[in-house]
Amino acid sequence: MLRKPLDILQNTFGYPQFRGAQSEIIDHVLGNRDALVLMPTGGGKSLCYQIPALIFEGLTVVISPLIALMQNQVMALRELGVEAAALNSGMPLLDRQRVIEDVQANKVKLLYIAPERLFADGFFDLLKKIQVSLFAIDEAHCVSQWGHDFRPEYLRLSALHEIFPNVPRIALTATADSATQNDIQERLNLTYGRTFKSSFDRPNIQYHVTTKNNAVSQLLSFITSQHKSDAGIVYCMSRKKVESISEKLNTHGFKSLPYHAGLNTEERARNQEVFLKEDGIIMVATIAFGMGIDKPDVRFVAHLDLPKNLEAYYQETGRAGRDGLPADAWMTYGQQDIAKVRNLLGTNQSRAQLAIEHQKFNALLSYCENLKCRRKYLLKYFDEKSDDCGNCDNCLTKPETIDTTEEARLALSAIFRTGQLYGATHIIDVLLGNETDKVSTASHNSLALFGKGKHKTKQEWQAILRQLLAKDYVLQDMENFGSLKLTEACRPLLKGEETFVSRKLYMSKLKTSSMGTPSSVVFNNDEDNSLFSKLKELRLELARKANIPPYVIFHDKTLIEMVFNRPTTLDELSGIQGVGTTKRDKYGNLFLNQILQN
Ligand code: ADP
Ligand code: ZN
Repeated sequence: MLRKPLDILQNTFGYPQFRGAQSEIIDHVLGNRDALVLMPTGGGKSLCYQIPALIFEGLTVVISPLIALMQNQVMALRELGVEAAALNSGMPLLDRQRVIEDVQANKVKLLYIAPERLFADGFFDLLKKIQVSLFAIDEAHCVSQWGHDFRPEYLRLSALHEIFPNVPRIALTATADSATQNDIQERLNLTYGRTFKSSFDRPNIQYHVTTKNNAVSQLLSFITSQHKSDAGIVYCMSRKKVESISEKLNTHGFKSLPYHAGLNTEERARNQEVFLKEDGIIMVATIAFGMGIDKPDVRFVAHLDLPKNLEAYYQETGRAGRDGLPADAWMTYGQQDIAKVRNLLGTNQSRAQLAIEHQKFNALLSYCENLKCRRKYLLKYFDEKSDDCGNCDNCLTKPETIDTTEEARLALSAIFRTGQLYGATHIIDVLLGNETDKVSTASHNSLALFGKGKHKTKQEWQAILRQLLAKDYVLQDMENFGSLKLTEACRPLLKGEETFVSRKLYMSKLKTSSMGTPSSVVFNNDEDNSLFSKLKELRLELARKANIPPYVIFHDKTLIEMVFNRPTTLDELSGIQGVGTTKRDKYGNLFLNQILQN
């Protein structure tokens, strides 16, 4: 063996030590054995095949379904001085031919390729003629129909094993559920390989869920107090809302861009590029945005609408903080959102599928209504045990709870006694004893329970109704003016077999004090802050010149360490995370000058 893994990690990648199971996985692969690697987003999967690729003599072929991701990786590797190339259908023919020539001439160590390319134009025959040392199958869940991203071309990858029986394969995914995992093993013939499953926790992400009163001002106050000049993603359900929220952010002095399927291809590509290449852009987007974006310094992901299940939520929020620095996942939701998503679920689907989707959505809602540690709930959903995290809203400020069993039953009775024909506003009017026109027309002021809920405020009743909806005790019929109806599930509560606990409401708006430390990078003295901005400016300037995203040059983490350690020589600079030899030679003096000038 020519070089040691740790040596490459330190010199080429500039990192002092391996993370989690990386070292073990790399050793396993270097022993020519197959592996299935399950690690969360940002866990550090890429190094598990990139380092063996640099140690093995021949070519490592990386199969990746996402062109954007592929190009990103190749760009980042080239910056590190690694001979990497990509081959995909989006490239002009001449470029493709040049890459193939380079592969034939043994000038490429890592070749990223789209699955359909692998089986086209006699590429397989070419591979048979050269030395292939390793196949890395990225986003391996694409082989599974249970997964959320099935790609039929991935099924053909089982052929790799038959045609190259002696070449080890490493399959990697951030999808955790066991059905998908089994599928991958079976379909890729990996049953004899070893599975490495890491914890799916993302400890640097702080989770917050707040109830909606004025979503826009809540969002503005969250961003202003926590993420003034940070890059972030705001998810909304509709194109119209994406446009309007993005505009509002801009009028409030933030730099924001919209992204949704209604924009033309060029506009989408342009906005995405600006998001990647400029600092502090807030992308307001539908879920059309995010696949294949591995920008490491996204400091927050905000949801203004509910995702349809926890898998989607975890994937979307997982785009925050890939660099391991503190980041926020923030969501606001209200009663109307529940009905909105429920009505979107399962169009064109079988009943069984529909039932699964409702179940999954219910799990998301109980996450939202959950009064205990959010991370614990999330991890348990992904079959992982954990303790209270101390880094979510509920851990940071223990919610005060009150028993609202009587109130919940009163609300259910009000819905029942008014014939299950009315929406939340009217039910609350009845409970509060408000003499509205609707109340008198329907003579609901003569009901025994009219005005029986005066001891609670309107907001408190809204919260109780929302909780009833979230528990699926009540459903909202959107085809009938949003009227509320009881479901079978509310029976135990009505019969007094169950208690109902609610979060105590505070009338204040967003309680900024309850949020932990701000996630923006802030040093405690002006000098450090000023050096940090200057280093960022320098990085941006260099990135613009080279037409690459700033983080490809150095991550924030690397700049932060420069500020803390203030290296004065190239040698000292090499000791900083993320400064490998190539980058030291290319950028070292420029950054040192900036540090010395400060
Ligand atoms: P994944 O593919 O699992 O989402 P990546 O491979 O992109 O994650 O790694 C996430 C980030 O962590 C990258 O910026 C990578 O450079 C960094 N990283 C990976 N391994 C290490 C390590 N051992 N030490 C420091 N940083 C690391
Ligand atoms: Zn917690």
